[in-house]
Amino acid sequence: MAVKFAKRMAGLKGSEIRELLKLTEKPEVISFAGGLPAPELFPIEEMKKISTMVLEEDGRSALQYSTTEGYTPLREHIADRMNSKAKTNVTKDDILITNGSQQGLDFAGKVFLDEGDVVLCESPSYLGALNAFKAYLPKFIEVPTDKDGMIMEELEKILETTDRVKMIYVIPDFQNPTGRTWPMERRKKFMEIINKYEIPVIEDNPYGELRFEGDTLPSLKSMDNKGLVIYLGSFSKIFCPGYRIGWTCASHEILSKFIFVKQGADLQASSISQREVSKYIELYDLDKHVEKLKEVYKRRRDLMLKTIKEEFPEGLEYTHPEGGLFTWVELPKHLDSRVIMEDCIANNVAYVPGGSFFPNGGKENCFRLNYSTSTDEKIVEGIKRLGKVLKKHMEV
Ligand code: PMP
Repeated sequence: MAVKFAKRMAGLKGSEIRELLKLTEKPEVISFAGGLPAPELFPIEEMKKISTMVLEEDGRSALQYSTTEGYTPLREHIADRMNSKAKTNVTKDDILITNGSQQGLDFAGKVFLDEGDVVLCESPSYLGALNAFKAYLPKFIEVPTDKDGMIMEELEKILETTDRVKMIYVIPDFQNPTGRTWPMERRKKFMEIINKYEIPVIEDNPYGELRFEGDTLPSLKSMDNKGLVIYLGSFSKIFCPGYRIGWTCASHEILSKFIFVKQGADLQASSISQREVSKYIELYDLDKHVEKLKEVYKRRRDLMLKTIKEEFPEGLEYTHPEGGLFTWVELPKHLDSRVIMEDCIANNVAYVPGGSFFPNGGKENCFRLNYSTSTDEKIVEGIKRLGKVLKKHMEV
């Protein structure tokens, strides 16, 4: 074919991992590869009532075009929620409703990145964000991490010696893929560094409310007095991803650019989805719903970690997430989780091989496990199967 694609498409290839993950969809496979919320916890009966109500009370507006910034009552609910949960001090005017927080990631790339600019991220980081940024042809520099997330001394070293750093992408709460959370000291140190270098930060926080243990920590946004932090929030993990409602919260100067690119991308988020989510918050108790999710996810996390302890061989490490959906396993350096995955598929169990979470590649001895969507029986049986495969590969 003589069709010529844009240069940016060259970096956006389907991966071998994607092919491998297709095999996990067979019904006999117990898959810990997904990252979805548990569908049996969606408030379907409530939303049936609400969708009728929205159409009856406000149908003409719900089915009409609306403003780019989003439905005002929903933006107000979000600002209130952020102020109580993420300890910020924001108003509806600081909020743009997006089509999931994923759209905010794409917009961040569009707003900040020229070809060859540098993006700093945690090593490893969320694959969906890395792919969204890749379309804008940046270079990635991975900041080393430990059990408490990004290492601030390493961040400082990189900033001292690197030109063209245009943005820093971080997930301080229950990170995807590791489940790790930055303690308070690191958050403070991070903001000190950022204030010195004045580089925009994308704080991606879809999991922050899903804390099962320990104290809630203030968001970076709440410590931001220079308007450098762009906070991305979402209803996907605390409510339902199908409505595709997320938001960007940023200073007026930055938010106005996001609003501009939102107009070009799709004019606005769905009028009806925004009203339905807003109505749910008004008529029901979203906090109570989140408590229910946390109860189920905590039980599944506990069961997965307990079974890992019993069934996995010695000599590997795994995280103990205080919330969110994932744990992360590191194998001895010489092992390749892609090779082991083939054996896993043959034994009807699956995970996501870790290599693709490192934008510059080169680290294959790790994988991500999700615990939010499997039943108790499947967690136990799947981890047993995985333990057997790992023992075989670690004994060689
Ligand atoms: N950021 C992170 C870290 C995620 O894990 C996800 C979804 N898996 C998203 C953003 C995007 O979520 P959504 O677009 O549904 O809000």
